[in-house]
Amino acid sequence: MKQFPPSELLTSLPKQFFASLVKKVGEYISQGFDVINLGQGNPDQPTPSHIVKKLQDAAANPLNHKYSPFQGYRYLKQAAADFYLREYGVTIDPDKEVAILFGGKAGLVEIPQCLLNPGDTILVPDPGYPDYWSGVALAQAEMVTMPLREENNFLPDYCELDKSVLSQAKLMFLNYPNNPTGATATHEFFDETIKLASDHDICVVHDFAYGAIGFDGEKPISFLQVEGAKEVGIEIYTLSKTFNMAGWRVGFAVGNESVISSIELLQDHLYVSLFGAVQEAAAEALMGPQDCVRELNDLYERRRNVLIDGLRSLGWNVTAPKGSFFAWLKVPEGKTSEEFAYILLEQAHIMVAPGIGFGEFGEGYVRVGLLTSEQRLAEAVERISRLEIFC
Ligand code: PLP
Repeated sequence: MKQFPPSELLTSLPKQFFASLVKKVGEYISQGFDVINLGQGNPDQPTPSHIVKKLQDAAANPLNHKYSPFQGYRYLKQAAADFYLREYGVTIDPDKEVAILFGGKAGLVEIPQCLLNPGDTILVPDPGYPDYWSGVALAQAEMVTMPLREENNFLPDYCELDKSVLSQAKLMFLNYPNNPTGATATHEFFDETIKLASDHDICVVHDFAYGAIGFDGEKPISFLQVEGAKEVGIEIYTLSKTFNMAGWRVGFAVGNESVISSIELLQDHLYVSLFGAVQEAAAEALMGPQDCVRELNDLYERRRNVLIDGLRSLGWNVTAPKGSFFAWLKVPEGKTSEEFAYILLEQAHIMVAPGIGFGEFGEGYVRVGLLTSEQRLAEAVERISRLEIFC
């Protein structure tokens, strides 16, 4: 059979770092080992039943069997605007300041193509969510990383950025609550970001994927809550985590009108819009009962406490995440993140994600997902205690 080589653009895409680890985990499982998978980021709870019910009813409506309108239904944009007003006190114009997305990832990958020309500079957090790199590669842009250091609460220190980089940068990605570090942002930090973006004409894209998950009574703040944010950027919100709807592929971008209209334009060329029944169910999620969101947050907090308290009791000096469903743990001295992840897999049958997979500044850490029961997390702690690494 003839082989048709992929384009240069496709071959320039970043390699999937976690593929070899996932393969290795598969080998252990097929050999019958009981692997505790704390390495991935897939929510383990079902979508709340009132949302599922809405999808079922809406799927039976012939109106939803047709093409949905380009750019999505207005009722979903209105629901997104009402959600922002109710949750964050932020006023959004549903007609100009909301773009419906096939999940957050779609928007994050599209935005560099919307705003950048080949060779343009984009600022990306390190460590960070690897899908940012995909969008950068597809736009043929140049990525400059912003280190997130523990001593700075995993917020970038803008003083570290070169003047020349700042004058070239057109776009910046931020993400709080943060994957992978579990850090949250402060009002002051967003203020500083808005000032920097405004001084240097940088568009800020705040990825608010874990916006609903904040611990110790602290509700994570939206970038748009801070004065001037809409002038300089947008926020990407996904229903994947807040409502356990990762498989449904629905999210939205809110904020700066010019950026929203560029996303809509690109999407007009790529798609029509989401299945109408998914849009109805998404509106129900945003506007329906919210106890499920509070209960989910409490569940993750209990899991975090089991894990963090358990690891501390072994003598492992770990920091508790303030939000997201990840814990970011310093590996023992003398081991790389990959070496330590393999030790945990081989000797304790626990999968964690090595920090180096999230960027150079992820070295020295592993990421642990809180996506399994308290019992399984307690068992993971017990298995680690048997390795006698920390005593
Ligand atoms: N942003 C971050 C930081 C994530 O961790 C994820 C998913 O894991 C996403 C965005 C994308 O989520 P989705 O495409 O399901 O909306």
